[in-house]
Order: sequence, then C-alpha cells, then structure tokens
Amino acid sequence: VAAPASPLLADLNEEQLAAVTLPAGHALILAGAGSGKTRVLTTRIAWLLQTGQATPAGILAVTFTNKAAKEMTARLSAMLPVNVRGMWIGTFHGLCNRLLRAHHQAAGLPQAFQILDMQDQLSAVKRLCKQHGVDDERFPPKQLQYFIAGCKEEGQRPGDVAVKDPDTRKKVEFYQLYEEQCQREGVVDFGELMLRSFELLRDQPHLRAHYQRRFQHILVDEFQDTNRLQYAWLKQLAGDEVGGQMRTQGSVIAVGDDDQSIYAFRGARVGNMADFVREFDVQRQIKLEQNYRSFSNILDSANALISHNSRRLGKNLRTTQGPGEPVRVYEAHNDLAEAQWMVEEIRQLVKNDGFERQQIAILYRSNAQSRVIETALFNAGVAYRVYGGLRFFERAEIKHALAYLRLLENPHDNTSFMRAVNFPPRGIGARTVEVLQDAARSAGCSLSDAVTAVPGKAGANLGAFVAKIEVLREQTQGKNLRLIIEAVLEESGLLEHYRNEKEGADRIENLQELVNAGESFVTQEGFGRDAVALPLDEHGQALRQSPVSQGIDPTQPMLDQVLPGSQPAAGIIDIDTGETLSPLVAFLTHAALEAGDNQAQAGQDAVQLMTVHASKGLEFDAVFIGGMEEGLFPHENAMSDSGGLEEERRLMYVAITRARKRLYLSHSQTRMLHGQTRFHMKSRFFDELPEEALKWITPKQQGFGTFTPQSSGGYGGGGYGGSRGGFGAKTETFASPPVPPQKAAPSHGLRAGIAVFHNKFGEGKVLAIEGTGDDARAQVNFPRHGTKWLALAIAKLTIVD
Ligand code: ATP
Ligand code: MG
Repeated sequence: VAAPASPLLADLNEEQLAAVTLPAGHALILAGAGSGKTRVLTTRIAWLLQTGQATPAGILAVTFTNKAAKEMTARLSAMLPVNVRGMWIGTFHGLCNRLLRAHHQAAGLPQAFQILDMQDQLSAVKRLCKQHGVDDERFPPKQLQYFIAGCKEEGQRPGDVAVKDPDTRKKVEFYQLYEEQCQREGVVDFGELMLRSFELLRDQPHLRAHYQRRFQHILVDEFQDTNRLQYAWLKQLAGDEVGGQMRTQGSVIAVGDDDQSIYAFRGARVGNMADFVREFDVQRQIKLEQNYRSFSNILDSANALISHNSRRLGKNLRTTQGPGEPVRVYEAHNDLAEAQWMVEEIRQLVKNDGFERQQIAILYRSNAQSRVIETALFNAGVAYRVYGGLRFFERAEIKHALAYLRLLENPHDNTSFMRAVNFPPRGIGARTVEVLQDAARSAGCSLSDAVTAVPGKAGANLGAFVAKIEVLREQTQGKNLRLIIEAVLEESGLLEHYRNEKEGADRIENLQELVNAGESFVTQEGFGRDAVALPLDEHGQALRQSPVSQGIDPTQPMLDQVLPGSQPAAGIIDIDTGETLSPLVAFLTHAALEAGDNQAQAGQDAVQLMTVHASKGLEFDAVFIGGMEEGLFPHENAMSDSGGLEEERRLMYVAITRARKRLYLSHSQTRMLHGQTRFHMKSRFFDELPEEALKWITPKQQGFGTFTPQSSGGYGGGGYGGSRGGFGAKTETFASPPVPPQKAAPSHGLRAGIAVFHNKFGEGKVLAIEGTGDDARAQVNFPRHGTKWLALAIAKLTIVD
C-alpha cells in the first residue's frame, strides 16, 4: 500500500486503509467490537468527498441511532470543509421519513403526516378495538400491535398475510381496519414509515431510477441488525434484482459484527449478511482484527465470553494496549448495596482518577433496574442522565402538550383529539366520548367534525373544546415555534392544571423544557438541515429549475445544495408544489423520531445510564454492568432455548466491549423487582470469563472475623491496592457501605437452583425465592406439574441432595 496521501488516512492500519480506499464495488466489512468499523465508514465518506469521487448528495449512510448519525456528521465536518447538513445520513426511520415527506403525494400521504410512536400506536389500536367491539381478552391490544408491527417488518400488507386459522383471520381484519384508520387520520407508525417508503421505491420506477442514479455510495453501519424489510429497502436504492442477482450502478458497503446482533426479537436477520454477499456478488470482504478501544483485560473477557457461542462467523480481535486494570467484580447483599457501591466507585473515578462523568456508563439488562441506581446517584448528588426508559418526548405531560400541537396542524388526528379532549379535565366524560365516536363512525368523519352531532350539554362542552383549538390555531398562525408552544401550554390549561397539582413542579419544568426544545430546534438543531428535495421530470431526471429557487445557485448541480442556514423555515420541500414543511410539523416529526436523544439534558457532564441494547456502538472510559444474575442477565425470557441464550451472550459481549479503560461487574444476592424481593444466583456468564482478568471484591460480612480493612474511615477511603485478608489472591475486603445488617440465613435453607421434594408434586427445582419469614415463597419447577409458587410456611418441601 502506498503511503497515505491525505492526513485523513494517516492513523489507519493496513486493513482499515484498504477498507477506506476500496475502489468502486460492493464490500462487506466484518469485524469485532472496537475495531474501527464506524470510523472506517466515516473516514471513507470523507475520503470519497475529498478525492472528488463523490458529492455530498451522492452519499447515503445508514446509522443505528440518531446519536450515531449526529456523531458521524460532526466528525465529517471536523474532517472536511463540507456542508454536511444536506447529506442523507441517518437512521432507517429518519431516511424513510425524509423520502416520504419529499414524495408524499406519490406515497399517498398528506405532507404534514404525523408519526405515531409506540404509545400512540397502542392507543390508536385500543380505540379501534373499542369501536369494533374486539374482545380484548382474546385479542389483547398489545398483541394486535405486535402483530401489525410484525407484518410490516416482513413487508406484508393485510392481503399478503397467510391466514391459517380463524384467529389470524381476525387479526388480519383488524390490521386492515387499523390501516384505514391511520390513512383517514393522516398518521403513520414506525413500521409504516419503513414499509411505505419501500413500496414507494418499488412502485415508482422513475423515482427509484432517480435515487439509484443519485446514491452512488450507500454505506450501512451495524448491518447485522437489519431486518428483512430494511434490507429490501436498501436493495431498491442500490439497483434492480434480476434472477436473484443485483444489477447496480453504485457501491454498497456494509459493516457489521455477527457477535453484536442483538435485535433478533425485533426481526433482525444476521442472514442478511450472507444474502448480501450472494445477491450483490460481493467480491471484497475485509476483516479488521485490531481493537483500538479497550485494554486487554477487558478485551480478553469479551473474547472468552463470546467463544461460548456456537453459531459464529469467526473473527479475532487483538490489542496492542497493555492489560490495564483488572475487571472488578462485586457481590452485593442487595440491589441498594450494589447501587451504593457503583456510586462510590464513580466518585473515586472522578475524584482520584480524573474520569469525566459523561465518560462513565452504567448499563443494565432491563429498564426496571435503573430506579434504584438513579436514587443512589441522586442522593449522592451525582449528575446522571438516562437514555431510553421514559424519554423526554414520551412523558405524559409532554405527550399532552404535543397532542394539542398536533391538533393545531391536523384537527382530524383522532389519537391526539382523544388525548386532549378531557385533559386537563373539562367535564367531558367517557360516555360523551363514546357518543362522539359513534357519531363520527356513522358519519364517516373525524371526531373533531362530529362534535356538532352530539346533543345537549355534552355537545356544548365538546363544541367548546373544538372552538378552543380553532382559536388557538388562528392565534398562533404565522408565529414562531416558541410562541406557539407557549400559547398552547397556557391556553390549553395544562400549565394551570399542573400548577394546582401537588407534584406538578417537575412536570411544569418539563413543559418549560419543551419550549426550550422548540427554540433550539429552530435555531440550531436539524430544522432546515434537509436538502432541497429535487423535482424530477417524467424520466426521473432532476430538473435544474427548483420551485423554490431562493438561495440556489443554478450553475451548480442542484443536488449538492442545501438551503442556507439563514433560512431555517425552509426544511423539507414538497417537490410538486414547492410547499415547505411548517416548523411545527418538522418539530413534531423530530419529537416522534428522535425521542431517544433526550436533548433536554444534553451537554451536561453526567453519568450515562442506559440499557445494554441502547449502548450499541458507543464507548465509555468506564463501564458498570449491574444485575449480573441468572434470570436477569441472562434474562429468564431468553433461557428457554439455546438461540435465546446465545443472544443474551451477544448482549453481554456488546456490554463488555463498550469499556475503554475500566470495567465493573456486579451481582446482588437479593433484588427488588416489580415490587417483589427475589433471590438470584450469580450469572453463568461469570464462569465464562477468564479468571486471570478478574478481581473479585467481597464486601465485609458478618462472621468474616475481626479484620477491619480500612482504618481511614471505611468505604472508598484508600483504593483497593493489594489483597488483604485470607480470601485468596484475587479477593479483598473492605467495609461495605451502610446497608442493613445481613439477616441470618433463612431458616428454610432454600435457594435458587437446589432440588426439593413435595408430597403432591414430587421432585422439582427451586427457581426463585421471595419474601422472608412467614411470607417466604418459593417458585419451584416440577417436571410433571409445571412451575408453581409455594408458601413455605404451608408447603412442606424437603431438600433433595
Ligand atoms: P463497535 O463494534 O462497538 O461499533 P467499531 O468497530 O465501530 O465498534 P469504532 O467505534 O469505529 O469501532 O472505533 C473504536 C475506537 O477506536 C474509537 O474510539 C476510534 O476512534 C478508535 N480507532 C479506530 N481506529 C483507530 C486507529 N487506526 N487509530 C487510533 N484509534 C482508532
Ligand atoms: Mg461502530
């Protein structure tokens, strides 16, 4: 390889350099965590632009999260003096949204279509169930929602679903009704964004040809977690399929790691990688084997763990970094002590070792674990930030405010109507709403249009509500986003409502934050980021004359231009009419799509809390993985089959490989989950980690003798240097944080994992224990009678050895 000509390429190793500078053609880069896959992708885009092989408009890059898309554009603009605002870099959903906005007529949607998130979708489903008298015992709304989402992920419309039994027939009928409702109301759910935009490309040859010509370079990160529909969507953009082979004009580069495939439960298909190689006749496959992220104790742990999986494509990872600190493992008495330990360790990291809080992450397998950790951090005054969980835009008060905003844009949005009509309470009862729904159904109109059909006082109340919205709409006409949001908060009565509520202060603060979010959205965030969607002639050729010629230099190729930043009101433009999206619609879209970014607290130096799923692709100096217990991680739902267990192991692999310098693992003997205390064995994953990379830290327990570890005042006083006490070379003790004194061992002597005998049910295995004393209960699996909860004060169980 010749010496790199550009400073862009200076730090790359040989394989990375080869990947970045690949000649035109399709390629698969298959490599382990932290080997620079994402970096290669970003650098390749920069290199293509810098060497003039591509224009910003010729590139389409798919990232896994909005955060990743932002990071990529930020890195790009740091590398090159290029306007990245118009580039098609985003998540599948973000890019589909963009495509549908630009071609909404062809896609059969109103330009201002609104996006239903999962919560909205569920309420739309519930509403429909009620309307059609669906038996919600037999067809729980959640199940119907999953059914619909599942069909869409497979690219199936109601007519495409194979009906095998009466239940499926019912569900398919419901799916059909749901689609009609969404279409009537001008809303799309997440699955619809993807499917609709796939169909748009599939059914509009001119459009497809245009985009195929345009996107000469398609790059996809985290390819192992694409589902069937996403892959099919990519294929539409890349070229035409003839006899199982793709005929393409440009290049597709897919980057992935089969060991990090963690979304099978949502339809992700690792098999897409093999299909890609075959269908695109991929000639170049590159492996990256050097890990740049982690010290070797961390990397060795990850490698050892994942080697227990059988279905792997096989990759190696090495590092030139030294061993670093050992991986610390902590066994806590209970979840409070675990959280307390994390807090103390974090304090040390910040105070003694100079770690930034935002470079420290606490990862957990399930969202329910975060509450205890949050409390501990809060009490200790450590700033933190939670990704996922209940995200900013998903909080109840925010959803209420958004419902009003959406009604301003679209009075026929029934989901928003239902949410807002009696919140804050204005005397419109459930009965009235039912009458209204009936009226709307028989008249075939929206709820808003049906209010005049409701008689009496109820009708008057409804009329007043609709009038209020109309007045608000007029008042806010032409106002900027900030003023619109402020007006809505005041006039809707939401602020007043929360002012009178005892616990309302937080909610008011969040509502205020919504105003800020609107403001910053217009001034700095993505609004106006989107390129001019270009008009096409009947052959799908880009027309040089834009309907919105403002700010466009006609001597330059249209595609490369974006509206200048000084025109934030531009946004996405309707290619047929030249109409632009209102800032409000753009903001509402942003709220639905980027809910996870939690921008309300962005920029603060805060410890990051998130699920392992949400941590994919990210890296932190220090990582804590809590709740390493059987049933929790690996999760009990996943343990019934080996495929599930392997996916849990990949999750653990993802979690471990987020860490650069320090890794902390912990498990707890007891844990409060879903309102119950549970006893858990430590995770089997501990047995799969290399003992020499670990350092077990055991809290001081009663009965361990007289040794007092730290004279300096206990916990957290002086680091953990050297081993002390008689617990083996890798074990040390220290005074544990203030936790309730350890209770004596329970008198029943049971714990998870042991075999027991019951007079009636025979032999079984204890799965879990809850409660203490007279309230103690055991969950036991009896091979012949199934799993049962038994009250230990009553059931006579004997231990079998
Ligand atoms: P994941 O599988 O977790 O998504 P990845 O393969 O995408 O990981 P990156 O995030 O691209 O890996 O890179 C991991 C880290 O290593 C980053 O901090 C990146 O900047 C750094 N890195 C990658 N390549 C090099 C290099 N050649 N020299 C120095 N640092 C590098
Ligand atoms: Mg990556």
